[in-house]
This record gives sequence, structure tokens and C-alpha cells, in this order.
Amino acid sequence: MFSALWDGRSNQPHRAAALTDKEPDNPLHNAERDFVALGIAAASIILLIGTGGSVVPQTIQAMLGYGDKPDMVLANALLLNVALIIFGWRRYRELTREIAERRRAEARAQVLASTDPLTGCLNRRAMFGETEAIRTRAAQRGEAVAYCMIDLDNFKQINDMHGHVHGDAVLVMLCERIRALLPREARLARLGGDEFAFVMPFPAGHPERIDDLAIRLFESFAEPIQLPEVTIDVTLSIGIAADHEPDGTIGLVVDASTLMHRADMALYHAKKQGRNRYFWFEPSMESELRFRHSLETGIRRGLSRGEFLPFYEQQIDVETGALVGFEMLARWRSPDFGLVSPDVFVPVAEEIGLISEMSERLMERAFADAREWHDSLTLSINISPVQLRDPWFAQRLLKMLVAANFPPRRLEIEITESCLHENIGLVRSMITSLRNQGVQIALDDFGTGYSSLEQLRNLPFDRIKIDRSFVAELREPSNRSHIVEAIVSLGRGLDLPLTAEGVEDEDILMALKRMGRLKAQGYLYGLPEDADAVRARLREAGQLVEQAGESAPSPIAVVGDAHRRQRGAQS
Ligand code: C2E
Ligand code: CA
Ligand code: CA
Repeated sequence: MFSALWDGRSNQPHRAAALTDKEPDNPLHNAERDFVALGIAAASIILLIGTGGSVVPQTIQAMLGYGDKPDMVLANALLLNVALIIFGWRRYRELTREIAERRRAEARAQVLASTDPLTGCLNRRAMFGETEAIRTRAAQRGEAVAYCMIDLDNFKQINDMHGHVHGDAVLVMLCERIRALLPREARLARLGGDEFAFVMPFPAGHPERIDDLAIRLFESFAEPIQLPEVTIDVTLSIGIAADHEPDGTIGLVVDASTLMHRADMALYHAKKQGRNRYFWFEPSMESELRFRHSLETGIRRGLSRGEFLPFYEQQIDVETGALVGFEMLARWRSPDFGLVSPDVFVPVAEEIGLISEMSERLMERAFADAREWHDSLTLSINISPVQLRDPWFAQRLLKMLVAANFPPRRLEIEITESCLHENIGLVRSMITSLRNQGVQIALDDFGTGYSSLEQLRNLPFDRIKIDRSFVAELREPSNRSHIVEAIVSLGRGLDLPLTAEGVEDEDILMALKRMGRLKAQGYLYGLPEDADAVRARLREAGQLVEQAGESAPSPIAVVGDAHRRQRGAQS
């Protein structure tokens, strides 16, 4: 691989080339001077031949005793000539040695400038030139070129869990495994961190060659990486772009940077699709990325303009039909996209680090809204796993409750099972301190993640929410869902109250009623609505604080009718 190092075809300067001939230390400059010395020596040789022709025979004859002594000036000139020739020759030899040494040093500098020191692969800068070079060669032979970007999934976790030494070892092994599968003419580079890329020619019209290679890469990584003390499982995501269409026609790609950018987009797509997979670049990915970019800017702007608002979904006691509280569901009223669902913007806000700020602003508004509701009505709020990574989360939440003068006992926070994989110790202490202040904790979307019975038993949850995908099964003609039944009996066994989500019709409600005491929420009771609509609903039911005054009415009283009326209006 080193033999094929970057040869300066790219227009990027490197250190060796940056030394100019004018620098006094540069031996090439010395060399110029020494070529003068060599010139003098050459002149001396000519002189030697000229003077030597008469002086040498004269000297020999004088020594043999039958001739005149040579002219002393000529004899001295001859000796000087000889000295000059010897001096010139030695200087010339030194010079050639010096130049050879310098060439070796330059080659070493080039290697360093173009290689990644950890893995010995090319580095990002060198890869650009290599890609151009491979493209030029391939074009001459009528071949296509594929550029593949490889990214290790969850490398940060590997580093955090096993330390940087092991992290580095994983990168080295990764590089070796990739290299072992690549054909001779491929070039492999580490672009930085856990990102690698290789570029290679392939017969135009045969993208399956690259597919095969990608599949072999995945197969090779199915085997865990064995290090002296640990065994580490790794998975990869790969994005591929080629300069030819799959049918072999020449694509519109014109340069290496377009190819690299496209492979990058395909890699991003592979990550988004759930990692551990590969994708070829497709033009739609470009528009997807543009959309994503506009979402990001929209979210940033929307946050400062207060475009995020809380909607509320009713929670009903199945047995009595009474309204018992609301789950707050975020909405984005965007001037560009209309009313946007949290399924779209929450993951983006999480990725760009804005989820905490967004959630806290929403909570402030929700606490203010809920303070107007009857004191018996609870408020449930969804908390992202990202927020739970913040060790100060519990403290900030409690501070907000105090500032809003909202009683903690009326608040329930919903966390999903995915929160439990991260830092179970931190989550436990957070849950405990919130519960000590009276906040209730619900485990949301139960059954869709991987929480173990052990975690359910050991973490102090106050409630389990049965995911709506299971509840939907109750609509089947049999009106039975083994999963819902199992979760209900699990809840009973652990003494945990349950909420069923996604109750969409009377059939489901009837089935739930047979299962005993539960809370329910879903479109049967109406769609989530904004603060004004909730206020109107509660006013009608006599459940606003301003109306309730001293003797607040029982929340159970009117709501059954209210939601039935509401359903009537919907249908
Ligand atoms: P979730 O916590 O499971 O919320 C329930 C979702 O189901 C809501 O979708 C709700 O509109 C929808 N839904 C309610 N009843 C029914 C029904 O009968 N049938 C069906 N098919 N769906 C129903 P939404 O509002 O789009 O929220 C989606 C998810 O976004 C929520 O799922 C929650 O995980 C997340 N989310 C919402 N607000 C926030 C927030 O403020 N912060 C965070 N971190 N996540 C939020
Ligand atoms: Ca929820
Ligand atoms: Ca849920």
C-alpha cells in the first residue's frame, strides 16, 4: 500500500514539496553550488590534459637526466589541477549521497503526510488524490469506480465502555479485516475517527461485484473482535457511490469530491435506516438531506419563535368513564410545514441537542395550563432518553415545578424502555429523587423495548403503559390479545397500575373493561387538542379552577357524557 502513496498529483501541498530551492538548508541548493565545483574539476581536467601533455614528459625526461627541467609555473599548475580534480570528485560523490538521502527523507515525509499513523491506511487528504488517480486510470480502461464509506456503529459506546486503548485496537482490526477483502488495486483510507473509505475500479455495468464485496464485509464483521481482555461486537454502516449507472452508462458525476459526497449521503441514509446495512447512493437521498436540513433550521428558528406547543390527550378511568388527566403531546406549528408530529421533530431535536430546551419550554407552558385544571387531574409528560442522560435533570424539573407552583403529585413522567439500557444507575437515582418529591413515573410503550422483569421489579415505577400496537389487537373478532392479557397480569403481579394506549373504538374498550381496573387513552375519547380546546372542554365539565372555587366538583361527574358528546361531534 505504501508503494502507491500519494504522488502529488493532487494540488494539495505537502511538507516535503513545500521546501523551496531558495532555502539555504536545502541540499538541492547546495547541489547547485557543488555543480559549480564539478565544473571547476572538469575545467581542471581539460587544463590537465593541456598542461600535462608537455609538463609530464618534460618531468619524466628531467628525472631520467636527459632533458630540461619543466617550467615551475606549469608544474605547479599541474599539481593544482590534480588537487582540484580530486577535490571535485570527492565533492561530487558526497553530493550524490546527500541527494539520495534527501530523496529517502522526502519519501518518508510523503508517507507520513499521506498515512493515518494508527492504522497505516491512507488519510483523508491522500484519499482525494488517490480517488482522482484511480478514476483517471479507470476511465482510460473503460472501467467504473466505486467509492465506499464505512462507519462503525456505536464506536463512541465502545470507547466509553472499553476505553480508548481498546477503541484504537478495534480500529486497527477493523482496518485489517477490510484490507483483507479488498482487491489489490483498491485504496483504503481512514477518514478520521471511526470513518473509513475505500475506492476501487470495477467492470462498468457490474455493480453486483461491489454488492458482493459489501456482503463479504458484513460477513467478516459478524465475527466479534477478539482483544486480549475483551471480545467486542461491532457492526458497520456503508454508503456507496459509483461514477457509472448500474447499467454501465457513464453517470453525471464528474469529480472525486462529488463521488465522496454521494457516498457520504448514502452512508447517512444507512445510519438512518437503522445501521448495520449498506446503501447505494440514490438522487432522492439528496432531497431527503435537504429536507432534513430545512427541518433542523426550522426547529432552531421555531424554538426561538415559540412555535412548539403542548397538545393534550385525555386519560380516562375505564371503569368509571371519568377523566383523570391528560398526556401532553408536543406539536410544532411550523409556518413552512404546518402542524408537525413529534415523531418527526423529536428525533431531530434529540440529534441536534435541542430536546432539553424544547421539552422544558413545553413543560413550562403545560404546567401553566394544567394549573387551571381541576386539582385532581394529572399531567403526563414524555421524557426523552437524551434528557435522562443529564444528571441534573431531576433537579431542574423540580425547580421548574416550584417556579410554576405546580404540585409534583399531579405530574407523571413517561419514560420509554430504551432509557433503561443507557445508564441504569443514573436513571434509578433520578427516578428515586423525583418520586421522593411525589412525581409519578410511568414506563411508556411497554413491550416494544427490552426491559427485563428484573428491571421492572427493581426500578420504582408507578405505572406501566401498554403500547398501542398490542391494544390494537383487541379489535380482532375474538377481542383477545394474549400480549395485553399477559401484560395486565404482569402488572397485577407486580402491583403496578396500567394504562392502555390507542383505544380507538368501543370494542377495544369493552375488552379492556373485562380486564379490571385500567386507565385508557385514545382516539375513542377524541384527538389530542390544544390548551384552548381543553379549557373549553373542562369549563363545560365544570372542571376549571376558576369555576370550581372552594368546592371543586368531583371529576367523575360529567366527563363520561362529555366524551360521548365529543365522539358524537367527531363521527
Ligand atoms: P406516545 O407517548 O406513545 O404518545 C401517544 C401517541 O399516540 C401520540 O402520537 C398520540 O397522538 C397517538 N395516539 C393517541 N391515541 C391514539 C389512538 O387511538 N390510535 C393511534 N393510532 N394513535 C393514537 P404523537 O402525538 O404523534 O406522539 C408520538 C410520540 O412522540 C409519543 O408517543 C411520544 O413518544 C413522543 N412525544 C410526544 N410529545 C413529546 C415530548 O414532549 N417530548 C418527547 N421527548 N417525546 C414526545
Ligand atoms: Ca407517552
Ligand atoms: Ca406510548
